[in-house]
Amino acid sequence: MSTITTEMQALEDFRGELVRPGEPAYDELRKVWNGSVDRRPGLIARCTGVADVRSALAFARRTGGPVAVRGGGHSFPGHSTCDDGIVLDLSLLKGIRVDPVRRTARAQAGVLLGELDRETQAFGLATPSGIVTHTGVAGLTLGGGIGWLMRKYGLSIDNLLSVDVVTADGELVTASEDENADLFWGIRGGGGNFGVVTEFEFRLHPVGPIVYGGPIMWPMTESPRLLRFYRDWITDVPDELTTAVIHRWLPALPTIPPELQGRPVVLVLACYAGPVEDGERVVAPLKAFAPPLLDLCAPKPFVALQGMFDPSFPPGRWYYMRSCDVAELTDDVIDVAAERGLAIDGPLTSYPIFHLGGAIARVPEDATAFGGRSHGHTVNFVASTLGPDGFDHQRDWVHDSWRAIEPHQVGAYVNFLTDEGPDRIRTAYGPTTYERLQSLKRTYDPTNLLHLNQNIPPV
Ligand code: FAD
Repeated sequence: MSTITTEMQALEDFRGELVRPGEPAYDELRKVWNGSVDRRPGLIARCTGVADVRSALAFARRTGGPVAVRGGGHSFPGHSTCDDGIVLDLSLLKGIRVDPVRRTARAQAGVLLGELDRETQAFGLATPSGIVTHTGVAGLTLGGGIGWLMRKYGLSIDNLLSVDVVTADGELVTASEDENADLFWGIRGGGGNFGVVTEFEFRLHPVGPIVYGGPIMWPMTESPRLLRFYRDWITDVPDELTTAVIHRWLPALPTIPPELQGRPVVLVLACYAGPVEDGERVVAPLKAFAPPLLDLCAPKPFVALQGMFDPSFPPGRWYYMRSCDVAELTDDVIDVAAERGLAIDGPLTSYPIFHLGGAIARVPEDATAFGGRSHGHTVNFVASTLGPDGFDHQRDWVHDSWRAIEPHQVGAYVNFLTDEGPDRIRTAYGPTTYERLQSLKRTYDPTNLLHLNQNIPPV
């Protein structure tokens, strides 16, 4: 049988939708979250199940073209799309099954964070995920997964029980602590390097449905004082409390009084994963640090807290980010942080500093492929504009900020990298984990078919 005939057969088997350039849905379906990424794949294969994933991967192997794997489409550098090649679009795979008795949930690869929370919260349960609900469970989990429950319950990968994976050669395997344990180790942090995950199984925890949390805001000029107070205060807050310090201009949202909209602020966003009264007590000293400009930290549904950042990061805007981890908020780091806040020169640009530690740091470094469990904080400088106008100027702010923080960096979170080259990927994992991942890549994807990611080449 000729190669062409075999290729066609592979795609005739395809149950989902195949969308090519020029077709009506093409321009909508090729869009990803970051509007600055504008690529034109040769084929968008909208998979409806494992058989479609296998068929699309077989096609990619035969044609040898690049294959991009798309879950929620939120890769900052746009790794889930490509020019000319095939986009393996998993966004139709929306199945979620919660087992409230065993406290587990199965989620297919196209599920978004908010969709998973919606199902689990129906039973007062949740698994740790990220802070913007339209992010994909798949990409977020495969890189690690940091969010508002992380200090109490760990990263998303620390709550992953098993995955179904179609490996680069088309084999469907399950990976867990007991089955294909080497693959399971690599999947937990190693991104999409080893195969296409079609389904995730998570452990759930009782959360809310009402939690104590939200932002407390002060004028940006308070940043140096606030950061010093915050540094001391977080040294003995319980693991139930996860916080991030955010520098930004206040957005035009109904929750923000009109006179404060556009005002530069430093805010602490808190989430207490425990009894509301305890949260109130724990956060009280922070509120007493100085009279807040605006205090929205109060009891609220967990799903509302999860969605608080959604309006700040809608799909289609132009985004650029650089990120790194710092060990702690030293005076030097605080000086940089405060100065970079004051230098923000755009209504949509912002930067969070996440407080790590707690349950994340209690998992041994070599238990999963996630790098930097002992790091104190993750800093993200995020430039954003409505479109191309002014984008370069905002990106310059990111580059200047990055240069200022770089001497203090101790590593990076792989899901917050852009296209920064192999050395940064190696830095994110550290040498020992990186070598182990490389060896795993030689086993599961020796030809590097899956290279549109934070790539770990087999050699
Ligand atoms: P996609 O762009 O669809 O996928 C990204 C990459 O993941 C793909 O290129 C592919 O390599 C891989 N991939 C996706 N699906 C699969 C699959 N099924 N099998 C194999 N590989 C796959 N991260 C956090 O940890 N915490 C946060 O709070 C957080 N907030 C964010 C907020 C926003 C607005 C954005 C844009 C990103 C955020 N991130 C956060 C980073 C996020 O984790 C990564 O961008 C992640 O890759 C997004 O996953 P996705 O499925 O939406 O992305």
